[in-house]
Amino acid sequence: MVVTEGRGASDPGRAAAPAVRLVDVRKDYGSGELAVRALRGISLDIATGQFVVLLGPSGSGKTTLMNVVGGMEPATSGTIEVAGRRLADLDAEALTTFRRESVGFVFQFFNLIPTLTALENVQLVAELVAAPDDAARRAVEAVGLAERADHFPGAMSGGEQQRVAIARALVKDPPILLCDEPTGSLDLDTGRQVLGVLRDVSRAAGRTVMLVTHNSAIAAMADRVIRLRSGEVVDDRLVPEPIAPGAVTW
Ligand code: ADP
Ligand code: MG
Repeated sequence: MVVTEGRGASDPGRAAAPAVRLVDVRKDYGSGELAVRALRGISLDIATGQFVVLLGPSGSGKTTLMNVVGGMEPATSGTIEVAGRRLADLDAEALTTFRRESVGFVFQFFNLIPTLTALENVQLVAELVAAPDDAARRAVEAVGLAERADHFPGAMSGGEQQRVAIARALVKDPPILLCDEPTGSLDLDTGRQVLGVLRDVSRAAGRTVMLVTHNSAIAAMADRVIRLRSGEVVDDRLVPEPIAPGAVTW
């Protein structure tokens, strides 16, 4: 495994513990002969502020990995520490708080509420986490949608809707963003824009990003690229000079 010094490691206050640490994490679905071994002993340290792209073919365990890191599913065995918390030690209530406050999620499908405007979709989450009053508007601005804040999802492009979904994740001000195929239903230009927004908002705040994709072209903009196959890490390397998201092509 490659030992990494992430961006952000230069910030002395934040360099101490990795943002995400996995030690021999296994996840089985079902048991006995029929068990699907989705994760087969994953060990990783991800430094604070690192932009990590996770690649792998369909069924390699990418989504499962995001789900266990995000506290949405328990691992079968192994240790998971995220933002300084060992997930196995959290009771149901603490796990809910963890999901709500420490992790922002962005998925392939935007899942916006169609009867709420862009800003209202973000405000809904802002209220849930008791964010400061102007947090929703600032998040909408951060993704470049200030002018579209009062539009409904149905009147927005796919890329704009995904940017609203990113604003919704950001309004919690989470130290970690988990993005599962965030450009999976977007065309090239729109996908690049969304990648650019993710890169900018993570760099600006020293946020750690784990971005899952089956599109290997996206790897060129990452700080680090981890490849999964059949539930195992088969490659893990730093990218010496990540390219600008706008230069990614597929
Ligand atoms: P990826 O996101 O890389 O396509 P997944 O993490 O979704 O891969 O799936 C990894 C393996 O686990 C696959 O074999 C998949 O069929 C299986 N799997 C995923 N979720 C479940 C589930 N809820 N129940 C049973 N098997 C599952
Ligand atoms: Mg998946």
